Amino acid sequence: MIQNEFQDSSGFEMSIVRVALPVPLPQVFDYLAPDATAADVGRCVTVPFGRGERNGLILALGAAAAIEPARLKTVRHIQREVPPLPADWLELVDFVARYYHAPIGEVVALALPPGLRRADGVSGEDEDPLLQIAAAGREALHSPRRASKALALLQTLAAAGAGPWRRSVVRALEGGEAVGELLRRGWVGGAERVAARHATGARPEPTPEQTQALEAILGAGPGFKPWLLHGVTGSGKTEVYLRLAAHLLAQGRQVLMLVPEIALTPQLERRVAQRFAAAHVVSLHSALADGARSRGFVQALAGEADIVLGTRLAVFAPLPRLGLILVDEEHDASYKQQEGVRYSARDLAVWRARQRGVPVVLGSATPSLETWYHARSERYALQTLSQRALAATLPAVRCIDTRRLRLDEGLSPALQAALGERLERGEQSLVFLNRRGYAPVLSCPSCGWVSRCPHCSANLVVHLADRRLRCHHCGCDGPIPSACPSCGDQDIRPFGRGTQRVEARLAELFPQARVLRVDRDAARTRRQWESVLATIAEGGADILVGTQMMAKGHDFPNLTLVGVIGADAALHAADFRAPERLFQQLMQVGGRAGRGALAGTVLIQTEYPAHPLYQQLARHDFDAFARMALQERRSAGFPPFTHQAMLRADAPALDAAVDFLRHARRLAEECAPEGLRLYDPVPMRLTRLARRERAQLLIEADQRGVLQGFLAGWVALLYRQRTVRELRWQLDVDPLEV
Ligand code: ADP
Ligand code: ZN
Ligand code: ZN
Repeated sequence: MIQNEFQDSSGFEMSIVRVALPVPLPQVFDYLAPDATAADVGRCVTVPFGRGERNGLILALGAAAAIEPARLKTVRHIQREVPPLPADWLELVDFVARYYHAPIGEVVALALPPGLRRADGVSGEDEDPLLQIAAAGREALHSPRRASKALALLQTLAAAGAGPWRRSVVRALEGGEAVGELLRRGWVGGAERVAARHATGARPEPTPEQTQALEAILGAGPGFKPWLLHGVTGSGKTEVYLRLAAHLLAQGRQVLMLVPEIALTPQLERRVAQRFAAAHVVSLHSALADGARSRGFVQALAGEADIVLGTRLAVFAPLPRLGLILVDEEHDASYKQQEGVRYSARDLAVWRARQRGVPVVLGSATPSLETWYHARSERYALQTLSQRALAATLPAVRCIDTRRLRLDEGLSPALQAALGERLERGEQSLVFLNRRGYAPVLSCPSCGWVSRCPHCSANLVVHLADRRLRCHHCGCDGPIPSACPSCGDQDIRPFGRGTQRVEARLAELFPQARVLRVDRDAARTRRQWESVLATIAEGGADILVGTQMMAKGHDFPNLTLVGVIGADAALHAADFRAPERLFQQLMQVGGRAGRGALAGTVLIQTEYPAHPLYQQLARHDFDAFARMALQERRSAGFPPFTHQAMLRADAPALDAAVDFLRHARRLAEECAPEGLRLYDPVPMRLTRLARRERAQLLIEADQRGVLQGFLAGWVALLYRQRTVRELRWQLDVDPLEV
């Protein structure tokens, strides 16, 4: 425990502070700090480092410095405007550093908002105050006066109930721009925080299954307990989260709610804001401006925030009154950071819940096999929602056998007919193809030239919308050549298909339809994404062509058909997690169909209609899929039955990367305990990325403890190796991509 190291230090020794700095070295740095006391542990500091200065965090007071005090440098500034990070938070980052074998300074740098770490002037000052109708406002409502925007908004508020409301909530109302005017006229004023923690928004009566889940989770009382809430798409998992949150808020506790990608879930953000209109909801994600992120973090730290809603980095929000952790779509790969410190926010959420003695609820329609296995072996308690809350039924899922069909740009006659029917009925359809761009490659039929990325071992994707060739891995792009760069032939052609090509063909096949493409090219920013969602919701599109962006939790009541094309490739992918991801994706995207009053249909085009995965999907039988997949993993010796770590190295030349890994493997052989398996270094599947060649070395053990014990010693050795310049290496514990 970090706390105990310094508590009994004497006054003299307290002038040394141990600082975590964002440098790739697994150590802390000692500095002199004449006026530092135990109250400064957990505070940000600016210190001289090399020829410049760095910002870091005081982890402890040093009893005796590793180097002579006379040679220590002195801290420049200790940031005392905000409360220090508490001991449990320091323990969290310490755990992350140990479990993922990452330098503590890098973990701290990742966990703290940059603005706070830089010790910018930060305040937790509330920029989203609570408002209530004031006496002058009540008078205005009851005396005759000229219609105005301000009056209209006041009337809307009065009709909405007693309040109070967050200013941001008022702004989001129809005519909400007039909120400033309301304040100026004194019609609304600041409200006290008294009633703040009570849920105010309208809420539906829970279904019997929701009631059962709520009673079980709340009935278990306080204390650590991990839950899997397994509910089919549209079964009302979110409603369960909101009711659980309301319960804990009423007890004066804070709730942490993690979501995979906040930009994709504006509906959820709004739902939380409206349900808890008077509570203090803080959003935390990496797209926030520095100031806003620091402010939200400090509000959480000060205990002012009631709900922290955020992406994986929100798992690091300090929460003194924490009472519950919710992890929505727990299976989502974006909970795992894929660069730097490769932590899993889902796993850390469970660790934090145990540390703080609070329940944690992992929710999903398609849980990860790891979580599912925990539930099966009763380490996690299971609650199931098998019925949809609103729609009467789950969509009917059918396969279209494409083996003997002529496809028109990937579209079978049956799918075209189904699209035509929906169009006639005025309903929406979605064609799901998880590949953006026009075509995955441009090629020359006469000499065989293909558009390769100059920096990666990947092809350049044809983007006809803006007439570019673009690498989806390193982002480099250039114009589409008018003739083959190699032989000059003008007959170069795009091969294969992406969303743009299907969009173009659908527009030709259904000239009367409004076709809308939904992928990361069409919705690059959150604003664009919201406008796409609004267009769909307002019925401004008939046929959507979308990637997995469309799979995330949205309700499109008028969407009744989902057609899946090009899914088969994932059946035969090398990655052992590919089938799991395919099943999750198809179940999620299929779950978009028929969420309203209209029944939904999912048509999957495939050359393997009898494949068990598609059959299980057609029966909505996640359990059967998971049993089968776990059985395969057990016999092949894959997670969750083994534990893995991956050492990756990259350098301008492949030999340098492989040589380093060979050396690392020799070091490992010397200290490998019984039960540890070392594999051979191999080039990664996408070997070259952004001009660097990459290789990897897999390490495995049946017991997590064996793996962790080994890694600690081995990584310490690796840090001591002199490597050729330009070589970089990283360790990935519990890698998702193998
Ligand atoms: P999930 O998170 O499981 O996909 P949601 O919580 O989004 O499901 O619920 C799906 C839809 O059903 C939403 O429109 C939601 O408002 C509605 N809903 C959820 N629970 C109920 C309920 N108990 N009664 C009526 N409607 C509900
Ligand atoms: Zn050519
Ligand atoms: Zn590239």
